[in-house]
Amino acid sequence: MTQPTEPIEFAGAADDIVSRFAGNNDLNAAALAALSTICPTSTDAQSTAEHGRDWWPLAMHWALQGKTPRRAGAVCTPTNSAQVAAIVAVCNAHDLPLTVAGGRSGVCGSSVPLYGGVVLDVTAMQGIVSVDTVSGIVEVLPGTFGPDFENELQSKYQLTVGHFPQSFDISTVGGWVACRGAGQYSTRYGKIEDMVVGLEIVLANGDIVRTGGAPAAAIGPDLTSLFVGSEGTLGVITKVWLRAHPVAQFQARAAYVFPSFADGMHACRDSVRNGATPAVLRLYDEIESKRSHGLDGTQCTLLVLDEGDERLVKATLDIVRECAISNRGRVGDVELVEKWLHHRNDTSGLQALTRKGYIVDTMEVSAPWSKLESIFNDVRTAFMSAVGARSASCHLSHSYLDGACLYFTFAGDKTDAVEDNYIAMWNAGQRAAIACGASVSHHHGIGINRARFMQESLGNAMQLLQGLKDTLDPKDLLNPGKIGLTSLRNNGRQVWP
Ligand SMILES: Cc1cc2nc3c(=O)[nH]c(=O)nc-3n(C[C@H](O)[C@H](O)[C@H](O)COP(=O)(O)OP(=O)(O)OC[C@H]3O[C@@H](n4cnc5c(N)ncnc54)[C@H](O)[C@@H]3O)c2cc1C
Repeated sequence: MTQPTEPIEFAGAADDIVSRFAGNNDLNAAALAALSTICPTSTDAQSTAEHGRDWWPLAMHWALQGKTPRRAGAVCTPTNSAQVAAIVAVCNAHDLPLTVAGGRSGVCGSSVPLYGGVVLDVTAMQGIVSVDTVSGIVEVLPGTFGPDFENELQSKYQLTVGHFPQSFDISTVGGWVACRGAGQYSTRYGKIEDMVVGLEIVLANGDIVRTGGAPAAAIGPDLTSLFVGSEGTLGVITKVWLRAHPVAQFQARAAYVFPSFADGMHACRDSVRNGATPAVLRLYDEIESKRSHGLDGTQCTLLVLDEGDERLVKATLDIVRECAISNRGRVGDVELVEKWLHHRNDTSGLQALTRKGYIVDTMEVSAPWSKLESIFNDVRTAFMSAVGARSASCHLSHSYLDGACLYFTFAGDKTDAVEDNYIAMWNAGQRAAIACGASVSHHHGIGINRARFMQESLGNAMQLLQGLKDTLDPKDLLNPGKIGLTSLRNNGRQVWP
């Protein structure tokens, strides 16, 4: 496993770091005193600046200019649900915004305290609480990081949840749930929403509620789902129950090469429709296949990996092989899977490019199979038509019975207008995707960066989401100004862009 990459460095001393989104950050003395009696509470310059940002690529550029998106007023580090509820009560009493932070590995600015106030850092709430080995259910605290979680689960209980995002080392269980994340083995194990059995939540009124429990219960709408993907806007997740599988004893790999991305997509679709759901089924366009796999720039690579019972894995790989060959695929170099396994979490190149002045970002969307070909073509073209665009490429990263996730990587030129060009590229790419029928996001979520596309995408269903927010959090305390919700704190106006 590669070492986790540290966030990019701030230029200048901690005291001198300014907020990109200006505003008064100071908490009044009474609020600070009340918070300090509950748990460790910091107003230290380094900590409030660090807790003012995540891995949003634009924030990486601002860091090099000595800016954080928005400095936190104070950082609270509770260790249990009762302390979280007490912090929420103080925020209620003093009308303070409260933004939850896990690993702060989000890439859309979701954990940025847009209006200052309190950042509630859950990373001191960590560890496995209990495991029901008969049912394969693990109860875990929200601030547990990926490696700590899986190492303990695998070594002590021979179980795995199977959620391995590229940010595994730097993200937390609560963050996975709050962002509706996807791991790289999702075609076998599912996305995080398929793994969640139930949640404990602290609501904006301070109540501690428990959702879920029994499988597939028919007890009204699924309340757990309300909070999965809510990005800290509807409640604070203080405990998570997840489904676990026996650790796989057998693994097999394969690679195929296709003359076009469309042929490769047909092979993925046919495989899944025939019941083959290999853990990894990743199809790269001709640009990424050249860049990462040494192909000639006209062909596309499909990497396949599965694990589990040997009989099932062999049958799965047989089906994938048949589907690949019948869609003009040929057998490729299986060593490419090994290479991907070793380098898949290494993102150090991103920071190197940022330091050179380039902006690089990714946009992942999902859509039914019938729409994917036009999304693939139109979105790449749209990115490249934006002012300052340098490159755009794509891979298919997660497959479902009815569709898939397309993951676009795009870069902007070195320029003084990085922020303007970045906005232009996002507008072009995201709107082209929506026009073709794609979701705004598949697993990175919305945060600040994609808030402006929510109304366009959801239509009047956005009112339903706003209604939920208004009911659960009438004072707009929890992570205000995110996921396209109207914030009372800015008279309903969007802060950015
Ligand atoms: C290099 C890199 C690769 C990535 N690869 C993937 C990938 O493969 N798959 C993927 O899904 N994502 C990926 N991401 C995005 C990111 O890692 C995920 O969104 C992750 O789930 C965020 O977890 P976190 O603990 O860092 O949350 P944070 O960034 O701290 O928070 C994200 C959001 O969740 C909310 N939140 C966090 N914890 C809680 C809680 N306990 N209760 C309520 N709300 C909470 C925050 O308020 C915020 O809105 C990647 C990011 C990077 C930088």
